[in-house]
Amino acid sequence: MQKLSIRDLPLKDKRIFLRVDFNVPLSEEGRVTDDTRIRETLPTLEYALRNRAKLIVASHLGRPKGKPNPRMSLKPVAERLRMLLDNVLESDCNVGFSPDCVGLEAEELATRLESGQTLLLENLRFHPEEEANDEAFARALAKLADYYVNDAFGSAHRAHASTAGITKFVEKSAAGFLMQKELDHMGQLLLDPARPFVAIIGGAKVSDKIGVIKNLMNRVDALLIGGAMAYTFQKAQSREVGKSLVEDDKIDLASDLLHEANERGVRIMLPADDVVAMKIENDVPTKIIDAEQPIPAGFMGLDIGPKTVRLYSDEIANACTIVWNGPMGVFETPQFATGTRKIAQAIAHNEDATSIVGGGDSVAAVHQAGVADKITHISTGGGASLEFLEGKKLPGVEALTNR
Ligand code: AMP
Repeated sequence: MQKLSIRDLPLKDKRIFLRVDFNVPLSEEGRVTDDTRIRETLPTLEYALRNRAKLIVASHLGRPKGKPNPRMSLKPVAERLRMLLDNVLESDCNVGFSPDCVGLEAEELATRLESGQTLLLENLRFHPEEEANDEAFARALAKLADYYVNDAFGSAHRAHASTAGITKFVEKSAAGFLMQKELDHMGQLLLDPARPFVAIIGGAKVSDKIGVIKNLMNRVDALLIGGAMAYTFQKAQSREVGKSLVEDDKIDLASDLLHEANERGVRIMLPADDVVAMKIENDVPTKIIDAEQPIPAGFMGLDIGPKTVRLYSDEIANACTIVWNGPMGVFETPQFATGTRKIAQAIAHNEDATSIVGGGDSVAAVHQAGVADKITHISTGGGASLEFLEGKKLPGVEALTNR
């Protein structure tokens, strides 16, 4: 990796500002209902604490729009963090909480921290200056610590005060273990993937995935398209697609992409058949329509059909590198979830391949199918992983100190 790792920092007795993604769901009563995101960053916290750092931990939670909002307080997270750390470190851990992430009280609490102790700061986004990447605010955050570590890959595509601005005011900025894992896996994909390299791209809109399709087109051996975006491509090929979701203003673009792929000898595969229905509801009558045929008026394509599942699964079975982003159909409705589930299973089944799944829906599908443990890497950042696959530089990564 080109960037410093937490392993490169002298941690003992130093105050470390650790940016994490503790954007966890809270119940009405303010209990953490899913602590996956906290657990994911425990290796970084454990390493820093075992090396006697003084940890100042900061995160955003929800969208408080720049104003304090007790329902989006990180206070309940401090309690859960303490329980998790007690477990990991097998001792009573001291996790303090600062009711503001900047200012005198935060500074005092940070100064009083002893080596091996943790201070969690209140929600960064209670201040509008966080998302505005305000320089004075970034400086106020930096004032709390000696060094900076970023373990919030999911926020790395945003240039905010706590992900980018702060790095100008500390001596060194490094990646935490979760960030490093993401960059290693995703970087490998783009730099030196084992071949054949197959990408499966789905979801609602072509417009959201243009960048990814364009960038991956130069790198993959086959690009398998599913989800509603397939209908924009098929309409570009003059297929009647009934009421299917189509972005009419992207038909020319879809046509250009297909043309470009053809010229370059890149295989873009579109569904060979579809599951269609008149409504997005369970228990409505469905039909399988071959892609050679028009989708009847009044019907919409809501999932890839069995022939497509077979064809795509064969491609996946022969791949050595697989990346997947976006569902193959309206997987939230069980009636139209089969294609997405089968693709998750096909990826899991190829245990010899390096498989990377990113994006909230595909990650949810992998969990629903019960195959998460068979995937090489499940990316924690939806937007960030998409931008990475587009080949964009992530501000939160760029800002870290070069080796
Ligand atoms: P995205 O956020 O672009 O990855 O899109 C995910 C959404 O696309 C999910 O909510 C799916 O229900 C939806 N989706 C996938 N396939 C279809 C389809 N054929 N018709 C309508 N929506 C779809």
